[in-house]
Amino acid sequence: MTANLLDYDLEGLAAFCERLGEKRFRATQLFRWIHQKGAANFDDMSDLAKSLREKLKTCAAVSAPRVTFQHQSTDGTIKWLFDVGAGDAVEAVFIPEDDRGTLCISSQAGCAMACRFCSTGHQGFSRNLTVAEIVGQLWFAEHFLRRHLGREDRVISNVVMMGMGEPLQNYQAVLHSLRVMLDDHGYGLSRRRVTVSTSGVVPMIDKLGRDCPVALAVSLHAPTDMLRDNLVPLNRKYPLQELLDACQRYLAFAPRDFITFEYCMLDGVNDTAEHARALVALVSAGGRSRAWCKFNLIPFNPFPASGLLRSAPAAIAAFAKILGEAGIVTTVRKTRGDDIDAACGQLAGDVMDRTAVEQRIAKQRRIEIKPLAAGAGGKLSGDAK
Ligand code: SAH
Ligand code: SF4
Repeated sequence: MTANLLDYDLEGLAAFCERLGEKRFRATQLFRWIHQKGAANFDDMSDLAKSLREKLKTCAAVSAPRVTFQHQSTDGTIKWLFDVGAGDAVEAVFIPEDDRGTLCISSQAGCAMACRFCSTGHQGFSRNLTVAEIVGQLWFAEHFLRRHLGREDRVISNVVMMGMGEPLQNYQAVLHSLRVMLDDHGYGLSRRRVTVSTSGVVPMIDKLGRDCPVALAVSLHAPTDMLRDNLVPLNRKYPLQELLDACQRYLAFAPRDFITFEYCMLDGVNDTAEHARALVALVSAGGRSRAWCKFNLIPFNPFPASGLLRSAPAAIAAFAKILGEAGIVTTVRKTRGDDIDAACGQLAGDVMDRTAVEQRIAKQRRIEIKPLAAGAGGKLSGDAK
């Protein structure tokens, strides 16, 4: 069987080389050829012994998922669609800025979490991506961009796992992929510049803290369990208090001294002054300092099936002001790549849904979301069963 060398972190590649009767430093050389130089052809790896190159040709390959579509936005954002077989395709997006180049990558084909405001969630879930499929997005993008921009130095300085899928539901593959990104012989990215974004898989947040503490972003979206249960169904399993406790525990390992909360601004649903004040109370409960978290407000990127609308700019500004005045650092995310559907939550790819997600989301939609009542949090009526 042919081994795909993009599937291995350095440890895995060393074990593979050992099985071929090769020394560990060969694995380091090979790893550097693949990830630092973008080589896929063993004949190009000039400092490897010819005998090893011949051996590799018989049992290994460097194979990233095939790009079937590339689209560049007027603002420089580039989106790629990768074919991962059996009718599934996932997306990655490159976002250039003055001081950094960020790649947003996918961790699953689809997503089983069924968040109401997310286009990937509406697609349903097909399968977990392999390490080669996750790392392959970075491998392809980095080396494509170097060629495209005529650069020899690193183009991608930051990676965010904010594309399709819930990274902490594909833990092992994500962990190995993170190790390739951080490895000095791989992409050499700093832990502060690699972000895992999660809808709140509490036990895996703890595990990530122990195994590979990169920057953590948590998709909060609501100040109360009642509202969050409806927007992020995973909240029924891991409610807000458990999630916040896990975030606090993560701080002991995190590469920065704060957790980022993402908050998608939905018109009339979670964007009033009462919601903002409830959020301030939530994150400062138990005498916690407000400096332990930052908020990133994401203007909702609408898509027809959601039945939801983006908050008005004035509502977003007023919301940010309340958080800011309470001492919480708050930013409003600029939407990038809007013209090519490359903004947050618009990465729909094309997956075979194996989870009947539309039925589940239809059930959630039967719940009417009412304004937050004083002291009570999000009031919902209707039957979610
Ligand atoms: N599954 C992970 C990471 C992928 S989603 C998570 O949920 O965190 C990345 C971010 O995009 C999350 O914060 C998510 O809530 C947000 N998002 C999803 N759909 C969106 C939409 N339509 N508009 C704006 N943000 C959205
Ligand atoms: Fe999945 Fe994240 Fe979308 Fe929720 S927001 S459905 S967890 S990708």
